[in-house]
Amino acid sequence: MQQPSSPVGPPPSPTLSASQLATLRELGEERTAEIGEVLYRVGDREYPFMAIVAGEVAILDAAGNEIVRHGPAGFLGELNLLSGQTVFVTAVVTEPLRYIAVDRGVLRSLLYEDGPLSDVVLSAFIARREALQRVQGLGLEIVGPHSSKATMRMLEFARSNRLPLTWRDTERADDPAAAALVVGLDETRLPLVRLPGGSELQGPSPGQVSRALGIGRELAPREEVDLLVVGAGPAGLGAAVYGASEGLETLVVDGTGLGGQAGASRRIENYLGFPAGISGSELTSRAVTQARKFNARLATPYRAVSLEPGNGRHVVRLEDDHEIAARAVLIATGAQYRRLPVDDLDQYEGISVFYAAGPPEAQLCGAERVAVVGGGNSAGQAAVWLARGGALVTLLHRRADLRETMSDYLVRELERYGVAVRDRSEIAALHGTDGQLEAVTLKGGERLRFSFLFLFLGALPCTEWLGDTVARDGDGFILTGTAADADNLLETTVPGVFAAGDVRSGSTKRCATAVGEGAWAVQLVHAHLAAR
Ligand SMILES: Cc1cc2nc3c(=O)[nH]c(=O)nc-3n(C[C@H](O)[C@H](O)[C@H](O)COP(=O)(O)OP(=O)(O)OC[C@H]3O[C@@H](n4cnc5c(N)ncnc54)[C@H](O)[C@@H]3O)c2cc1C
Repeated sequence: MQQPSSPVGPPPSPTLSASQLATLRELGEERTAEIGEVLYRVGDREYPFMAIVAGEVAILDAAGNEIVRHGPAGFLGELNLLSGQTVFVTAVVTEPLRYIAVDRGVLRSLLYEDGPLSDVVLSAFIARREALQRVQGLGLEIVGPHSSKATMRMLEFARSNRLPLTWRDTERADDPAAAALVVGLDETRLPLVRLPGGSELQGPSPGQVSRALGIGRELAPREEVDLLVVGAGPAGLGAAVYGASEGLETLVVDGTGLGGQAGASRRIENYLGFPAGISGSELTSRAVTQARKFNARLATPYRAVSLEPGNGRHVVRLEDDHEIAARAVLIATGAQYRRLPVDDLDQYEGISVFYAAGPPEAQLCGAERVAVVGGGNSAGQAAVWLARGGALVTLLHRRADLRETMSDYLVRELERYGVAVRDRSEIAALHGTDGQLEAVTLKGGERLRFSFLFLFLGALPCTEWLGDTVARDGDGFILTGTAADADNLLETTVPGVFAAGDVRSGSTKRCATAVGEGAWAVQLVHAHLAAR
């Protein structure tokens, strides 16, 4: 039997109260099922929400290994019940079952209205998705070599969308069966992607996989909207919630997934209203649900490749020949991680060098020597998370004192979890074979043994796609307000084109400010449209 493992622990199995079951009974249908009956299986497109009145159900992976059991007052389902994604697991009755089946659309409306139920159900769905990401052999199987750019892009897409996945690197000697699967496939037909349920795609784009899994909507070749938001991080999602709830026809596109950098944060401790902290994936999952509730359209993966300012409508072109004509555009494309300036870095990326520390990486690194590079809070959070998962963590940073760049509470956490801190340490070279790191050499010449490296070196703005349409500062961040000679504080040098969040020159690089700017931008969009 395969079990999810530490550091987060198995997902909680919350139960519903008698009054919550009564509410569900009014809206759903009470059904029975016999032992051995399959309620849904891997690859299915749809299933209702199921609350158990009596009996028991086992959840199995594709190979039939048991992951967890749910009993009376428990409920079945995970995030795919809301997103419409293909099912990753199979549910089999293990004790005669009486359950309430509630249609997915009905559940969605109920979650909007019933706060306490929404808390129980959403938290469980999010925790279950995190746990599924840690179960090997579940979800997508991506088969392709590390040297294939398309394979690495597919992995990045799946990871940033928090999809459970297994990667079979066909260049690794220890998996000859994987190499056999792609014999005869040229670069254009890589990677081979096997979907839950058994179908296969050769050389698909992230969009094709996304659609095959039932995630995200397909856009028409040309769309016309009031407000186009480019980027679905906290700023974009903030704008989506306020734009859609205040009557603007709002479309949000993102080149990878929903949630942006915040989705990669293990624990956001400084977001107002969450005194115990909240994981980035929970915060963004909640924001996405909220945006959908107000009918904002969220479309991924659609990367913006150009902006053509117009009179009345601006046109943003997307990859794959789509174009959106919008009365106002909000650029919320944030920033991307800075890479380490060393040779052969790409040989290690995705295998032993990472830019985020999530459950799969924590599992990979248990009892291994790990270096986290960077002096900011994101590096501190990752170091603590990996150390809690059992890794032997060293934090390398280039200043004399970590307190210059990291919050005090995190410096204390590093001590508490036994993270070694090395000041004035910069990496000059990586050493290893087949993408597996063995050691690093520091600029001073010292060689240190590490099996994994996590890089948190700050970020570069995602603005190259804008060409010279919108004025930017020396580092590429977008100028707004007085710096752009614009009428209001978030407007760029192009009237009707706004910028919010990390992509904006001078912004505070924090979740709360990004959300606030996204919301604020909507007011400015209203004013702009009214003036026209
Ligand atoms: C590991 C980590 C931990 C963090 N911890 C904290 C914390 O504890 N507290 C805190 O306040 N802040 C934290 N931050 C910072 C916070 O996450 C950011 O300030 C915030 O996410 C910025 O939001 P944003 O919407 O402006 O941009 P982003 O979150 O960067 O989102 C931008 C989005 O735009 C998309 N995009 C980019 N280019 C294109 C394009 N051409 N077309 C379409 N889409 C595009 C990207 O895919 C991305 O989804 C952390 C960041 C990281 C990386």
